[in-house]
Amino acid sequence: MRILLVNPWICDVAAYDFWLKPIGLLYVGAALKTFGIDVELVDLLNRHDPDLAKFCKPKGDKRYGTGKFFTVEVQKPAILKNIPRRYKRYGAPVEYFEWRLKNIQEPDAIFVTSTMTYWWPGVKETIDVLKKFFPKTPVVLGGLYARLYQNHAKAHIKADVIFSQDLRGLPSLLQELLEKEVKCDFDLSKWFEIFDPAYELYNKVGYLVFLTSLGCPFSCSYCLSPKLWEKFVQRDPVRVVEMIEKYIEIFKVKDIVFFDDAILVNKENHFKPLLRLLISKNFQVNYHLPNGIHARLLDEETALLMKEAGFKTIKLGYETSGFLQKKTGGKVFDEDLKRAVEILLKTGHDPSNIQAYVMVNMPFQKPEDVVNAIKFCKSLGISVSVNEYTPIPFTKDWYELVELGWLQPDLDPILLNNSLIPYWWKHGMDAQTVQKLKQLARNIYEKDDNSLTSMMIKKSIN
Ligand code: SF4
Repeated sequence: MRILLVNPWICDVAAYDFWLKPIGLLYVGAALKTFGIDVELVDLLNRHDPDLAKFCKPKGDKRYGTGKFFTVEVQKPAILKNIPRRYKRYGAPVEYFEWRLKNIQEPDAIFVTSTMTYWWPGVKETIDVLKKFFPKTPVVLGGLYARLYQNHAKAHIKADVIFSQDLRGLPSLLQELLEKEVKCDFDLSKWFEIFDPAYELYNKVGYLVFLTSLGCPFSCSYCLSPKLWEKFVQRDPVRVVEMIEKYIEIFKVKDIVFFDDAILVNKENHFKPLLRLLISKNFQVNYHLPNGIHARLLDEETALLMKEAGFKTIKLGYETSGFLQKKTGGKVFDEDLKRAVEILLKTGHDPSNIQAYVMVNMPFQKPEDVVNAIKFCKSLGISVSVNEYTPIPFTKDWYELVELGWLQPDLDPILLNNSLIPYWWKHGMDAQTVQKLKQLARNIYEKDDNSLTSMMIKKSIN
């Protein structure tokens, strides 16, 4: 049996390779291999594939292996026709994809993953090409979009199966698709503890992304993480380090990224032992935490161990100033962020690697809340990463907005793109205000912030 795994294109108005790897698909690959199935991977977002150079001028790396994707402007979906942004396809050129498919023996099934729900047009385009090449091969669509928007996916995507389960559902899926019994010697409910994501399916990667835990025990109103996973699970640090060592040996990368949602939870038994093991191994790599760690859970010992292990990028979840901190779940307050930054600076972390996430355009948020958040981060000596908010379907926020009548429950997910919401949503900030706030975050470190913010508030916001 042969199965082709595909990480699809992104279609959007903006996208950047901030360490994007299809981890879920790689876990599926690992499980399929243990069933004795031959697995091949086409990752249309792998900027480091050497074969890309045959079809386009490769874009070089920026900081720590991140970088720009190859892009092509594509026709904007009709629903976005009044939004003044160019719409692009991000990832490998079509010619590369076709060349890969021409050189692949016809598989018995094709598994395509999906992430952001508003990226579904990229999934559709990818599957259209697959169906042109292999019209008789069943295509299975999994991942987040398939899980959250089954009916939408059935209506818009030419996949044969919309798969909304986790790895536990694989044996029955394979039996249904291929009419063959699959021998599984594992307890698949423990898939996260058993498998490593199958990076060996790549020829080359520029960095490695891992999860040491699944889910999050907190419940912020804007976040889906606690709902996606039945329970919070952490993997044995010894197994995590074995996994990292295995793949560093194969790929010789310099950057290792942990995308956990809650890496500091239970830190005495999880993150601290992991850090001590990484220090003892001395892999000579940079480690990164781009997913907003919990400021309140950071302590000095952890920060020292992180410094000694070689952690570089450290992002802190801050999100907003003001009353919304409490309303959204109380994950972090100003004093938590201040204390965490002081600890990081005291333990020798480079302030240019420390950044706080700030969201703009949250429901009920005022522009001044964003200005104050940016100024607060600057006063602490760190920079900010300002991101547009979007109500993620089926979160507490989303239900509240639906109940208020501010959001239609059956809205096409393409409209929930965080970059596009300010152009049409009447209950938040307009696109101009959002752009000015993002500009403030960029400029505040270069200009006199008092004159700049007062100018912003007077001329643009009020
Ligand atoms: S935002 Fe962070 S802390 Fe809050 S629920 Fe999501 S992952 Fe957990």
